[in-house]
Order: sequence, then C-alpha cells, then structure tokens
Amino acid sequence: MIYNSPFEVKAQSYEQIEKFKKDGVTVFGTGNFGSLIKSALAQNNIMVNYFVDNNFNNWGKKFEEVEIISAKDILKKNPDSNVLIASLNFRYLKRQLTDLGIKNFYDVDFLLNNFDITKINTKWSKDRCKVQLDLYNYSVNATRDKESLKVNSIDLVLTEKCSLKCKNCSNLMQYYERPIDNDLDVMLKSFDNFLSAVDYCYEVRMIGGEPLMYKNIDKVIEKVLSKNNVGNIIIYTNGTIVPRGDKINIFKNPKIYFKISNYGSHSRNVDKLEKVLSENNIHFITERVTTWQDCARVEKFDRTEKVNKEIFGNCCVNETLTMLHGKLYLCPYSAHVENLKVIKPKVKEHVELFNEKNKKNLKSEIRNLYFGKEFLEACNICNGRDHNVASIPAAEQTKTFLNLNKI
Ligand code: SF4
Ligand code: SF4
Repeated sequence: MIYNSPFEVKAQSYEQIEKFKKDGVTVFGTGNFGSLIKSALAQNNIMVNYFVDNNFNNWGKKFEEVEIISAKDILKKNPDSNVLIASLNFRYLKRQLTDLGIKNFYDVDFLLNNFDITKINTKWSKDRCKVQLDLYNYSVNATRDKESLKVNSIDLVLTEKCSLKCKNCSNLMQYYERPIDNDLDVMLKSFDNFLSAVDYCYEVRMIGGEPLMYKNIDKVIEKVLSKNNVGNIIIYTNGTIVPRGDKINIFKNPKIYFKISNYGSHSRNVDKLEKVLSENNIHFITERVTTWQDCARVEKFDRTEKVNKEIFGNCCVNETLTMLHGKLYLCPYSAHVENLKVIKPKVKEHVELFNEKNKKNLKSEIRNLYFGKEFLEACNICNGRDHNVASIPAAEQTKTFLNLNKI
C-alpha cells in the first residue's frame, strides 16, 4: 500500500537530502509515528543516529535498535544535528528546540509521498497509519498558512451522560452527580458561529459521555454534513450501544467513521456494533484498550510556571478544541473543570460561541486560544497527559459519582 499525502508537501532540496544521507538524522519522537518515519527514512536511504523523547524513562534505552536521548543531549552529541520532528505535537517540540538553541530542525512531510506502508513496524493498522499521516500533513500545512485559520478538530460534547461509569474517565464524567445533555439549539448555533470564524476544521468529533445516548445526534450530524468547511466526522463510542433501524441511516456517509474503544466485558456490544456497521458500509476502527494514563486526577499541584509549560507542551490533547454548553475550550479537561465549577480562571480560558458579542472578534479569539496559549490554569490541577504519566487499568467502574476534591 503506497501512501501519498492528500495535502501539499514541502520538498527538501537535493543538497539537503544528500546531507541527510551522508550525516544521518536525529528523529524527535518515538512511538508509532516515530516507527513510521524511521521506515520512510530507510526507504530514502537515510540513517537514524538517535531518537529523542521527552519521556525520561526512555532515555538510554533503544527504540527500533537506535539509542534514545533527551532533547538536551542533542547539544552534547552534535548541536548541528539534522533533527526531524516526528510528532503531531511539532509546534511545541519546535519551541523546545529553539529554546535550547538548536536550529537545524525539519518537518517530515517531505518523506510522506510515495511512501510504502506495506511492511511498516507499528501497532497501528494500515487504515490508522493513513488517518494519522493525513492528519499530520494537514496540520503542518495549516500551521504554515498564516492567512487563514485552519484547525485540526473540534470535540462536540453532546452529553455528560454515559452508559459506563469509569472511575478514571479523562473527560471527568465520574464527577457529574446529575449529568445533562447539551441543549440542541445552543449546540447548533454555537457550531454555526464556530464554523463562520474558522476557515477549515479537519475533524468534527462527537464525544460524551457516550454520544450514542444523545437522542438528537442525527440533527447534529445533519448540521455538520451541511457545512463545506469540515472534513471527517468521528463518533467516539464505548461499544455498549448499537444504533438500530432508521438511526443507523444517519451514519451512512463516507465522511463518517466510528472509533470504538473496546474495554473488554464492559463494552458488551462491540461485536454487534461492528456487525451492524459492516453491514451498512460504515467505516470504523476498533481499539482494544486495557490501560489508560492516570490523567483524571483533580489536585492542586502548585507547579512552577516552567513546569506547567512543560506539562502543557507535552500534553497529547493540548490543542483539542472542545465545545461544551456553547463555550469553546482548548482541551476537554479544561472544559469540564470549568463546567464542574472546580476553577474559574483568572484570565478567561474559553471563547463564548453561543453568547458571542462580536462576530468580528471571534476569529482572533479562537486563534489566540488555539495558537497563543503556553499553558492553562487548568494544567495546574491536572496530572497532564504525556508519556511520563503513569499507566492505570482502563475503565474500572464505580457505582456512584465521585466527590471532587476541594481545590
Ligand atoms: S466510557 Fe468511560 S471513559 Fe468513556 S466517556 Fe464514558 S465514563 Fe468516560
Ligand atoms: S489541562 Fe493542560 S495538561 Fe491537562 S489535559 Fe488540558 S492541556 Fe493537557
């Protein structure tokens, strides 16, 4: 299977490629994306000298037979190394390298045309590889385009209700004593306002709680499909609910696919759901999930600003725009700690979409939220979501809602 980017790729010059071949490169980023890039480099006869990872547990270990070092170690090894950034979090990693005085860093989109992903060594399926590579290529292009405002995604929180009650839900559902649905009119108007300010949104993601519990999901999908400045629609579900009869018809669209988190016996209807989706030619990706990061804690960490910036910078959801009850937040955690009234940030950390006062300002407000934050007040009470955060068993259930710690 040959991958070609559907977006423009910025080619490197012949001389630069020859330099990469002669000296080898350092790849910032491990994991599945790092593996993909190592494979793409091998196909171009470019050797990887080191991998760089911000996860201190990995320093000194090997990844794909290559030593893993810290970002600071680049300076010791060779400050003039050619560093290729193999991560969707490239904006923060570039800032980190710049702060260290490292100048020779590059995006990796130049490797992502005519890329044979048949024999790659990752845990991702070929479909998942394609999805991630497309998103990366889109995001690199969107960041280069300074004229317009293009965002990776928006998470629409349809409901606070869920068919499971996970103790460590990263969306903090376990803390809702009386979960409610999003008001449909508020959601549709807010979404209209969002899309009138944004030039393009690559993914619209329906989340909850459990989005299939939201009775008006068909009306939300209709609204999203009526827009021409959105890409895919993704339904995140926990495999407990199977839409039947007419309900399934709303999902029959090539732009829509399901991401099913399979939590074993808790996800009691995964097989049935997969069967119904297959019979109706609806795309889906199922992932068996056994562990999560410990990222649902709500505590006062009292970190320094520098540490909060690192926590934010390395967080895997630090640009996950989230719409909840007519407001736009930068990540789901920040949306829910505000909605649960755990914090009221001193400097506003959301954008009013429903009650917006001035449409002209909306674009710049969203731009500032999306590109302008170095950390959030919410980060100071959040355990973070990076690779240094401990693993915990996924989807352990609680019978009742949990009390929030006083902050
Ligand atoms: S299934 Fe669990 S993790 Fe997912 S939204 Fe529901 S409570 Fe949260
Ligand atoms: S509050 Fe900060 S660290 Fe926590 S999930 Fe959001 S961006 Fe990440």
